[in-house]
Amino acid sequence: MEAARGTARGDGVVKAVVMRAYGGPEVLRYEDAPDPVPQPGEVLVRVRACALNHLDIWTRLGQAGRPVPLPHILGNDIAGEIAALGGLVPGFNPGQRVMLSPGVSCGRCRMCLAGEDSSCREYRILGYQLPGGYAELVRCPAANVIALPDGISFEDAAAFPLVFLTAWRMLVRRAEVRPGEDVLVWAAGSGVGVAAIQIARLFGARVIATAGTDEKLAKARALGADEAINHRSEDVVSEVRRLTGRKGADVVVEHVGEATWERSILALAHRGRLVTCGATTGAQGRTELRHLFAKQLSIFGSYMGSKADLLDAAALFFAGRLRSVVHAVLPLAEARRAHEMMEASEHFGKIVLRV
Ligand SMILES: [Zn+2]
Repeated sequence: MEAARGTARGDGVVKAVVMRAYGGPEVLRYEDAPDPVPQPGEVLVRVRACALNHLDIWTRLGQAGRPVPLPHILGNDIAGEIAALGGLVPGFNPGQRVMLSPGVSCGRCRMCLAGEDSSCREYRILGYQLPGGYAELVRCPAANVIALPDGISFEDAAAFPLVFLTAWRMLVRRAEVRPGEDVLVWAAGSGVGVAAIQIARLFGARVIATAGTDEKLAKARALGADEAINHRSEDVVSEVRRLTGRKGADVVVEHVGEATWERSILALAHRGRLVTCGATTGAQGRTELRHLFAKQLSIFGSYMGSKADLLDAAALFFAGRLRSVVHAVLPLAEARRAHEMMEASEHFGKIVLRV
């Protein structure tokens, strides 16, 4: 077991990737940062792996919902070991292997008590509105700590929480996917895509995935997609109609935004449900309203999810029925290169920093 505090050098500073300005990947600097001190009810975690998310790019650019105060440390998806406890925190011990639930909420309001954490007015995400895991140490409330079984690597654990939480919330809690339904998943190689394909399959749906290269289409099929469409060279709407006997998709998992929104609406079956969690290509989507009413469509917004949603998904992850997909693992000091890799969109699955 390591020393509880100051794991790096014991002098009150840790290595971290600190962002002191908004901008391109070059604003990410590997340097010394103050050693975080856990508050009562919190744990201090020695970070071993931290996965990248698209939210990191928006935050770095200052284009997330509201620009974060600087300097800032990114990183929503964290796995590591408990380094210290802030006072008495029952149930956890230093040295214990853990992964962190990325959403922090007040725990007292009506939304929190109803298990709707991500609708809490105080909802914040590690690495977005709070300091994150591009660092040797991070602190968070004890409620966010999930014990990690021995067989799960830190890299796989870090690649799991945010995207599986998001996809679980979208498919299981919002769209309420059912056995036998046809589910269209855009961008199979994205984090949400990788998670959505597996979750939809697990719930008995038939999955139609899209990707931009034949190599990614093959990987989507290997992950469980029943059908795969090249969204660069094929007409996705007519392919979905053909594959569903002209019916259309019962559920569309939409996270791309402007570039796909109109086709997502057109690809839906009568009484189909579109569920959206993001807009990586832009936030304006054209909706022809006659489709909405004549086909009795439903549109669901979805944002992160509850701690219980993540625990439900994590139980299947720990049982080997859902798996995280890691594209590349880079050292923390190479966070800039990891961001450049994510912006190039050539990856399939998650890019993880080893800390
Ligand atoms: Zn709350």
